[in-house]
Amino acid sequence: MRRQSPIGNRQSSILAERVTHSPEETVLFGREIAVHLQPPCLVLLEGELGAGKTTLVKGIVAGMGAASEDEVTSPSFTLVHEYGSSGKVYHADLYRIEGARDLATLGLEDLSSQAATVLVEWGEKLGDNVPISCVKIRMEHLGCDDRRILIERVEA
Ligand code: ADP
Ligand code: MG
Repeated sequence: MRRQSPIGNRQSSILAERVTHSPEETVLFGREIAVHLQPPCLVLLEGELGAGKTTLVKGIVAGMGAASEDEVTSPSFTLVHEYGSSGKVYHADLYRIEGARDLATLGLEDLSSQAATVLVEWGEKLGDNVPISCVKIRMEHLGCDDRRILIERVEA
């Protein structure tokens, strides 16, 4: 399915949609997603507090073999966590960031030369400052333990 993305005029296509019913199910879905992520890869996670972004990242990082689920915690104070001995998986959280930032000021600009995977919670705070194609994951709290997870590919 192709349609206009809300990010300017960029094209996006929906890759997957899933409703999970527990944190464990969301972690498992993250592991499924990891199989399909080919570095260099930028993943922007959107959704309100408690939507399950960090929970999904646990599954993605574990699925990539970069760290165990328990080692993945929210980087909201440190801004960026690095997982794996080769430093190929970065996990950022822009929740406390004021105003628009770009990847350069976050120290994440040369991710393609490093063949890294970069997972960014509150990715919407990057606004239009994303010059490369990326995967956007939108998470929505449906009440109780239900979460809708929508995955889109957004072209550069
Ligand atoms: P975010 O990073 O979006 O703020 P977190 O992953 O830190 O969200 O927190 C999600 C919270 O919701 C956790 O306490 C988790 O246990 C709970 N939860 C309940 N159901 C789900 C679900 N289906 N998927 C993910 N988290 C869930
Ligand atoms: Mg979080």
